[in-house]
Amino acid sequence: MTTISEALAALSGGDLPADAVREGRCLKPPIGCGKPLISENGEARVFWNEDEARQYETEWRITGLCPDCQDSVEDDAAELADMWPAIRGFVAWLDESNGRDEHEKTLRILKVTEETGEVAKAVIGMTGQNPRKGVTHSLEDIADELCDVMITAATALASVVDNPEQVFAANLGRVQQRVNELEARNA
Ligand SMILES: [Mg+2]
Repeated sequence: MTTISEALAALSGGDLPADAVREGRCLKPPIGCGKPLISENGEARVFWNEDEARQYETEWRITGLCPDCQDSVEDDAAELADMWPAIRGFVAWLDESNGRDEHEKTLRILKVTEETGEVAKAVIGMTGQNPRKGVTHSLEDIADELCDVMITAATALASVVDNPEQVFAANLGRVQQRVNELEARNA
């Protein structure tokens, strides 16, 4: 079992957040920049107001990442979180080669079922339930297949409505509200 700090250390050539904090610097590349948080002339390398400084310092003590590197990791995550431009790209690519009549839309919806089957295959494969095949899949395979389900479902959604972003956000909000209500009732 690998811990998160071990995984980070492996990626950063054995560097640990605790080492970075002890030495007053950022984690070494490729994860961080390895630079000291306070430059040699005693100035903080980036401008911090006090609130920000406290927040960044708390994060740094956990992740070993300086404010600049924390920001760039967050930017990457935010960019990835908005999947819709990529999904619209898939829809355009499919439209170009297949058109988008009712038959094509139906096939895009059915594709979700195909990918769901692949999740099931990975789950069964991870248990080694088939004695002839043994263990054929891992947790990563399951994660990959779950992502395929999400991507194909989003592509199908964007193929049948003009505003998939809003439809999805509304449904997410609806489920969120239901969970909040249940939590409030059980509190
Ligand atoms: Mg798949």
